[in-house]
Amino acid sequence: MTVSTSRPVRTRFAPSPTGYLHLGGARTALFSWAFARHYGGTFVLRIEDTDLERSTPEAVQAILDGMRWLDLQADEGPFYQMQRMDRYREVIADMLAQGTAYHCYSTPAEVEAMREKARALGAKPRYDGTWRPEPGKTLPPVPTGIKPVVRFRSPQDGVTAWDDLVKGPISFDNGELDDLVIARPDGTPTYNFCVVVDDWDMRITHVIRGDDHVNNTPRQINILRALGAEPPCYGHVPMILGPDGEKLSKRHGAVSVMEYDKLGYLPEAMVNYLARLGWSHGNDELFSREQFVEWFDPHHLSRSAAQWDPKKLNWVNAHALRQLSPDDLAARVAPRIASRGGDTGFAALPAVMALLRDRSETLEDLAEGAMLFCGPYVPADAALRAEVLDEPALGLLRAFLDGAQGLADWTEAELDAQIKSILKEHNVKMPKLAIPLRVAVTGHKHTPAIGAVLNLLGRETVLTRLASTLAG
Ligand code: GLU
Repeated sequence: MTVSTSRPVRTRFAPSPTGYLHLGGARTALFSWAFARHYGGTFVLRIEDTDLERSTPEAVQAILDGMRWLDLQADEGPFYQMQRMDRYREVIADMLAQGTAYHCYSTPAEVEAMREKARALGAKPRYDGTWRPEPGKTLPPVPTGIKPVVRFRSPQDGVTAWDDLVKGPISFDNGELDDLVIARPDGTPTYNFCVVVDDWDMRITHVIRGDDHVNNTPRQINILRALGAEPPCYGHVPMILGPDGEKLSKRHGAVSVMEYDKLGYLPEAMVNYLARLGWSHGNDELFSREQFVEWFDPHHLSRSAAQWDPKKLNWVNAHALRQLSPDDLAARVAPRIASRGGDTGFAALPAVMALLRDRSETLEDLAEGAMLFCGPYVPADAALRAEVLDEPALGLLRAFLDGAQGLADWTEAELDAQIKSILKEHNVKMPKLAIPLRVAVTGHKHTPAIGAVLNLLGRETVLTRLASTLAG
């Protein structure tokens, strides 16, 4: 199957603002965006906010924030369905006038009874077509006091089929499809109908969405055809499963995209990781946003469900961290240092980033590690002092302090040389000096390489802390 691009490509992401932007939604957005970018098309953002009970302005904001964070910029929109009500009403009126839709006065209880009856006969529960106009058919008298719904006059014969961009050919017997309610008694349009009018008006050519919408597609195609519109191509992506094979949910950890921002993941890594969840380009695991757009095509979207793998995400993120310059990392980590009460003005912060980068998986790891340099100095407590700073250790520290005071250059190489010469002079191994030095200068037993730590802390800080430890 080839991707039909006879019309200018236009894709859309159409989230319902009922919570946060979850990982599945973000991935759908990413695929739709990449599709538009790859084919030089237009990416539209549409907010499906007609479910008034569940839609909130905070959820709209969460979607916009998530998309901004992932840098998935819409070329058009956001369009809000609640602002398009007049248009939906207008199309419904046209359909009523043309006979592709009709008023149905059956009450909910009556419709339920029809369904029951069908069930009893072993058939699919459905509306029985009482109010459906047919040539030569006399409709029942219109009852008073009942506000009708509007139903779509769905084709009853034949099949509705499409060549799904992901799943291949799919078809539904039209006999299986009910005459869908497209407007409620109060005139408000229903979900499937708004989607159809929007996809039509917004000239959407390719719809990529979750496969929970497969059952909606034949209904939407039939309504589009009744409107004389060319249906878009559809691609339904399978859902994301948790590591245990169950549908991904809060049980598996964070499912909101912005939660990953908080946890210190890079948007670049998130895009890379999400792209590979259900799409592949040979064996490539690590790629840039530009490569993704260049390589993206819907033929390599997987038909089977993808599994969330936190370890792999960490690996991708660790790789993405290494692609950033120390200055860039410092800028991204600074707010996280500030929120820990650290000093973001620490001059050697980029050098600290370079030191910590290879041992960190997230920006949070980097911030945590940077607190050794930017955080307040908390001298070792009595227990740690007693454990590490015994007389021989204090003797070595004194020797180090004497030597360090006279160092012409305060560099990692000079400091390493100084340490080595003391080890040699006193005939001891590295930990005998390195651990007391760490405890004295940072208050911690474990730090990155001691020469690097001393260098980055700077001469004044190191000498002051050493002197006060020796005095204390
Ligand atoms: N609003 C729907 C949802 O959030 C998506 C509709 C569509 O993509 O057609 O699941």
